[in-house]
Amino acid sequence: MKQTDYLILGAGASGLMLAYRMAKNPFFDHKSILILDQEQNKGNDRTWCFWEKGTGEWDPLLSKEWSQIYFGALGKSKKISLGSFSYKMIRSEAFYKYIWNFIQHKKNISFVRDEVIHIKSLEEQVQVNGKSKTYLASKVFNSIPLNQTYSSQKKYPVLKQHFIGWFIKTKQDAFDEETATFMDFNIEQKGNTRFMYVLPFSKKEALFEYTLFSENLLAKESYEEAIEKYLSDKNITDYRIVEKEQGSIPMTCYPFASENEKNIVHIGTAGGWTKASTGYTFANSSKKTKELVNFLKNNSDLSTFEKRSKYNLYDLLFLDVLAQHNELGSNIFSNLFQKVHIHSLFRFLNEESNLMEDLKIIFSVPSIKFTQAIFKRFLL
Ligand SMILES: Cc1cc2nc3c(=O)[nH]c(=O)nc-3n(C[C@H](O)[C@H](O)[C@H](O)COP(=O)(O)OP(=O)(O)OC[C@H]3O[C@@H](n4cnc5c(N)ncnc54)[C@H](O)[C@@H]3O)c2cc1C
Repeated sequence: MKQTDYLILGAGASGLMLAYRMAKNPFFDHKSILILDQEQNKGNDRTWCFWEKGTGEWDPLLSKEWSQIYFGALGKSKKISLGSFSYKMIRSEAFYKYIWNFIQHKKNISFVRDEVIHIKSLEEQVQVNGKSKTYLASKVFNSIPLNQTYSSQKKYPVLKQHFIGWFIKTKQDAFDEETATFMDFNIEQKGNTRFMYVLPFSKKEALFEYTLFSENLLAKESYEEAIEKYLSDKNITDYRIVEKEQGSIPMTCYPFASENEKNIVHIGTAGGWTKASTGYTFANSSKKTKELVNFLKNNSDLSTFEKRSKYNLYDLLFLDVLAQHNELGSNIFSNLFQKVHIHSLFRFLNEESNLMEDLKIIFSVPSIKFTQAIFKRFLL
């Protein structure tokens, strides 16, 4: 059986970013790289957004960016100018096409379509069992969520960012295309953290996503009835649904990195690269794949790649509170958006904030609930 140097499992956001970075870096020119996925052309299955200061690497792929966002909550709604930041959007088809076009010129990178069933470490290599073949590799980068241990353990709460979105088109001008609705909590909370997320692409086109940060998924009709109601409350009645999108992204501080081994590193959502407190993954995957490529130049033990930071603790306490008091989400986010400058909030969520910014954020959230969470987690 032929052995490949690097085997990337999953050609989604993180797997393709990693392959792209390897393709761009001459260090990897003499390594054989195999990308494996059950599907190569997934089209527009995702709409990725992230905030960024100034220009960035993925700018050629943007289909829209906003310099202003709206945050809505009872008595605390406001439009926020992003200043030097902007909120950027990429549709996945453009991303997949761009990366595949770039990679196809590299002789050392190939693709195979297969479904992964099992991954196993051997002494000096890794064996991957696909449905149609078995593969051997020196190093494996896995973005396929094969291991579901995180969802059955009890130590770390597991919430989900779950949503259904409608891309709609209206006949008349209906949207403020300059402002993305980041979170609108002006909807019934029903004991959960529920908000509407709206991305207007033009005056007549927008994506409306009914989103929850909670433990259990809803029936499909519940998301869709809520979108319908929201539109009707905004007097938007003459529209056509052009496309739909849905997702369920795990929000947990489960230490995915503890499952990394000498020759296997889990990446993307499967590797814990999803920000536990928000569900955002795209920008973090971009950062992490950069770090991983640099790491590979000087290190061979992949189990030492990930490091824990103070942000794990912040996220853990936030999720402890939200899992226990899911109805508090609207209040917590309102306080954050009310009391903290948007740049500090972005830097905090990007895990790049300074101590002063951390303290501002810590003092803006309901102190009793967070103190109780600290006691419960560490002292009881
Ligand atoms: C609809 C949606 C919208 C999102 N929007 C945002 C956003 O705005 N901002 C943000 O930061 N994050 C967002 N996310 C979260 C996150 O960025 C995406 O889920 C992202 O695609 C995660 O990248 P990944 O590489 O971990 O997984 P994926 O992109 O899902 O890639 C995994 C790959 O593995 C393949 N695969 C799965 N099982 C097997 C198998 N057994 N064998 C072979 N191949 C397999 C799949 O085909 C897929 O290509 C969104 C997620 C969804 C679902």
